[in-house]
Parts: sequence; structure tokens; C-alpha cells
Amino acid sequence: MLRRLTSGHVVWEIKEGACGSLSPDVVRKLFGWSQRRFYSKEAGGLILGFVDSGTNGLLAEELTVPGLGDQRSRTSFFRSERHQREAELWNMQTNGKGTQLGLWHTHPEANPTPSSTDLSDCERVLRNGKFDCNGILYLIVGTQTIGCWHAQSGRPLILLGHFKP
Ligand SMILES: [Zn+2]
Repeated sequence: MLRRLTSGHVVWEIKEGACGSLSPDVVRKLFGWSQRRFYSKEAGGLILGFVDSGTNGLLAEELTVPGLGDQRSRTSFFRSERHQREAELWNMQTNGKGTQLGLWHTHPEANPTPSSTDLSDCERVLRNGKFDCNGILYLIVGTQTIGCWHAQSGRPLILLGHFKP
């Protein structure tokens, strides 16, 4: 379901047909926010990129990251409206092609899994957000691996897999 290519890209697909990739730059940035120190706070944001015209694949190329307006603790992250504004800016900068592909945040655990708060946040975003894609990517950065899920409104998350740096 999920593979790491020699190029550094992570590619994934599910049997229902959805597929996508994470650029090496996105993978590097995600691991950069990993909560490896006992005092590291949770981080998070939006996953930005493009929808491939031929396959509808989700091509993740950029992230929004913690900053002004966010509330961060050891075990929680509140995403402010700023992330949405940055996603709109990204859309303009890419001549209307760049779009929001999903959500990411960190957990202080080795191989992360979504909490019940995560699941309700994800469902809320799926119901209220406007996406150019059918289903979004949901990533949790742990201290050892990144867990990847595909999320669609009203359905349980589908685990794509965990991968190491
Ligand atoms: Zn979480």
C-alpha cells in the first residue's frame, strides 16, 4: 500500500483506486517536526500539493507549519485559521493549481495512531472543508515513523502504512 522509492518519494495506493505521493522535501520537513525531545511540543498543519490530472493522485509538495495563532502543548495541537489563509495563498502562487490535500500533526509516540480527538477533528474537516480531491491524506509524525491514512467523510480511516526517515 505504501512504498519508499530510491528517489526519496513515498508512494501509496489503496484498492479503491486512490493514490498519491509525498515529495522527498515534504518527508524531510515532516521528520523535522518529530517530538524527539521530552520537551518537544506537538506540531501540525495542512498538506498542500497538486491533484494529478490523469490519475487524481494526491501529489504532496508543501506543508503549512506551526506559528502565530496556533496553540501547542506536549499532547495537543490547535490549528489556527492562518493555515487556511496560507493554503489560499499557495493556491494563488500556483496559478490556481495548488490545493489542500490533507492534515498532518505530530505525536510523542514511536509509531503513531490517531486518537479519538484526531478522528473527530478529521471528520469535521472533511465535512466542512472544500477539497478538490475525493478523500484526503491524514499523516501523524511519530518519533520513529510517520503513519499515513486515507480519510473520506463518514468512513473509517484506511491505514496506508508507517515509514521511517
Ligand atoms: Zn493526534
